Amino acid sequence: MAIATTDPTTGQTLRTFDPLTDEQLEEALARAAAAARSYRLTPVEDRVRWLRAAADALDADTDDVAELMTTEMGKTLTAAKAEIGKCAAALRWYAEHGPTLLEPEPKDAGAVGAEQAYVTYQPIGVVLAVMPWNFPLWQAMRFAAPALMAGNVGLLKHASNVPQTALYLAELFRKAGFPDDVFQTLLIGSGTIERVLRDDRVAAATLTGSAPAGQSVAAIAGDVLKKTVLELGGADPFIVMPSADLDRAADVAVTARCQNNGQSCIAAKRFFVHRDVAEEFTRLFAEKLAALPVGDPRDPATKVGPLATESGRDDVEAYVADAVEKGATVVVGGQRPDRPGWFYPPTLLTGITPEMRVYDEEVFGPVAALFTVDSLGEAIEIANGHPYGLGSNLWSEDEGERAEFVRDIAAGMAFVNGMTTSYPELPFGGVKQSGYGRELTELGMREFMNAKTVWVG
Ligand code: NDP
Repeated sequence: MAIATTDPTTGQTLRTFDPLTDEQLEEALARAAAAARSYRLTPVEDRVRWLRAAADALDADTDDVAELMTTEMGKTLTAAKAEIGKCAAALRWYAEHGPTLLEPEPKDAGAVGAEQAYVTYQPIGVVLAVMPWNFPLWQAMRFAAPALMAGNVGLLKHASNVPQTALYLAELFRKAGFPDDVFQTLLIGSGTIERVLRDDRVAAATLTGSAPAGQSVAAIAGDVLKKTVLELGGADPFIVMPSADLDRAADVAVTARCQNNGQSCIAAKRFFVHRDVAEEFTRLFAEKLAALPVGDPRDPATKVGPLATESGRDDVEAYVADAVEKGATVVVGGQRPDRPGWFYPPTLLTGITPEMRVYDEEVFGPVAALFTVDSLGEAIEIANGHPYGLGSNLWSEDEGERAEFVRDIAAGMAFVNGMTTSYPELPFGGVKQSGYGRELTELGMREFMNAKTVWVG
């Protein structure tokens, strides 16, 4: 894939970039290693100051950066601004809580015959971050804010369709006052990742993206015994039980499926509705989906802009065609509009059967697959049959159902009467083929730290 900015609203390529040469990459790795040696010794108060300065700079840059994100991957300007706000909040969260999280953790010295025993958390060095285009700033920030707080150094290999957002991020940290080279963007194709990952100067890697990309990075990292965190796909279930507030559930279902033009790993993708309320919920959901304005992502009235890439739109169309061919009903949407750009309308499919690809794959676009079920147990069983296990949602006022859902759903996150969302205050990650490890909170920061046991006799 060429490293280029192509506007999904028009299909026009606006700018292309040459990938780093071998020599430039070698220089970048050398600079990262040098930065890691000194950055780990910087006072925590300095890191806090730089994180806060980065948050302030982001606030000031909001309009320009939002425009850049919309141009590169088609999210609405409104969504881009919200994403920037969330990044600033994460920077401030780590600035506020980081110092406490980095304090040594005392252990029971007497029990181990020591005068002192504690765990000290130390940075592990240079971490490679392979990131996707769908939340081009937030995905990278989820890695960067805790990594820089921890004293690690970041190398960002961003998706090839968001190079300018990637370059902006490195520039943001530089202008916030972080020392040179503690966060570099590498303009490289995915074929060059292996060289970076095998390099002795790189300690670990984190990847957010598709399962095949995760498998590739994990296999290489496994070969050289380096730590990885993987945040891969999701096909989150959204279960609606008879006690739910159906109107509210339908409102949130629309947002949960169509946020970011339907391209979110934690989007609700499969809707399991109890037979007693299936007709009513389907009607409400269909009406609300059909009412979403699709169009120019720069228009504040627009809720759904174009998909980020032409191949992404082709994939979504192929999923719908496959389901329809095998007997699914299109309740809403299902036809690409006749206009330039990679638009696809909010679509609702019912009558889903196991032969259809939408049954157990992930549709990365605004297509909802609705299943009618006779019990919560049936919904959970079908949901758990999917290879992914990222987020999950239940709508119910029944305490017993909530407890059953939280106990039995095979997912890294369980949201009751709400939609899966990432917050700096809550751990984020999945199980099964959705990946492993956690981002955000102290768990995210400590994934790339050496929890060093200290015993002093
Ligand atoms: P990819 O996984 O292909 O891209 C994500 C990142 O991984 C990019 O930086 C990409 O680089 C890199 N990459 C791609 N292939 C490899 C590889 N073999 N080894 C190492 N790195 C690689 O995602 P797509 O953009 O193609 O999206 C396809 C699917 O991925 C979606 O349908 C969705 O299922 C999933 N996805 C999940 C996301 C999430 O948030 N969890 C986000 C985006 C996608 P380059 O751009 O240069 O190819």
